[in-house]
Amino acid sequence: MNHVSTETITLHNGVKMPKLGFGVYLVEEGATTVDSVKKAIEVGYRSIDTAAIYKNEKGVGQAIRESGIPREELFITTKVWNSDQGYETTLQAFEDSLERLGLDYLDLYLIHWPVKGKYIETWKAMEKLYEDGKVRAIGVSNFNVHHLEDILEHGKHKPVINQIELHPRLSQVEIREFCSKHEIAVEAWSPIGQGKLLDEPTINHVATKHSKSPAQVILRWHLQHGTVIIPKSITPSRIEENTQIFDFELSLEEMTQIDALNMDARFGPDPDNFNF
Ligand code: NAD
Repeated sequence: MNHVSTETITLHNGVKMPKLGFGVYLVEEGATTVDSVKKAIEVGYRSIDTAAIYKNEKGVGQAIRESGIPREELFITTKVWNSDQGYETTLQAFEDSLERLGLDYLDLYLIHWPVKGKYIETWKAMEKLYEDGKVRAIGVSNFNVHHLEDILEHGKHKPVINQIELHPRLSQVEIREFCSKHEIAVEAWSPIGQGKLLDEPTINHVATKHSKSPAQVILRWHLQHGTVIIPKSITPSRIEENTQIFDFELSLEEMTQIDALNMDARFGPDPDNFNF
């Protein structure tokens, strides 16, 4: 079996999740989604990260069915969108996502953003879905420490994972430390900084030393920090390139050099100040 699919982390509820997944934000619904996801599965990815708002769950579902890989060998994540937050609306949004995906259970369901005044009720619906056995694990996305504290105080189950913007320019040390203390895994979105960090000299220097690409070096940096990664690409060669990260290791010095690139700089919205 391909090594890409066998490297997993164990979430705090015992469920195993691949360290590497395939993200499909901004991948156009239809043939582009179907072809990209099928290519990803063919080269060894076993985890797919979509969301209701990406509007490509149907294509993801079609690719899963056409891949020929048994459902139980795949790890499928989707997310409840902001306008669907609330108890009953989340339960309905979940069913709608399942139907679009053509699946009868999900591996991971996430609250996409911490919508003020709504995310606690939303979390209670997530707990119901989990207790009913419709999803193997529940988590959150874009939660800062105070949002997580709120969930820990008011929830029955704690999130298994927090999916946040995280890359060498935004190292999120405070959230990572909090999550580690509470056994909440951390998953990086825009792990390679949406492709905007690939010219960075330090990363290129390290890449040359290892005969790897800048994208591979950044993804390896995440892995060595214990972070789950979901890089996105629709280019077949890059989809495959992003899997070739389990056969080399960055030294402590190289890890420290990349850590030092942090500028607390976001490419995406701030979870304490978004208006969608
Ligand atoms: P990313 O960091 O994965 O970068 C993707 C871009 O980098 C691609 O469009 C491509 O242009 C480039 N790229 C990819 N591989 C490359 C390679 N090997 N060499 C050169 N360039 C390469 O950014 P992303 O798509 O924003 O994030 C990844 C995934 O995270 C998304 O697809 C989605 O699943 C998830 N995400 C979640 C949230 C959230 O709010 N939870 C927000 C954004 C993204």
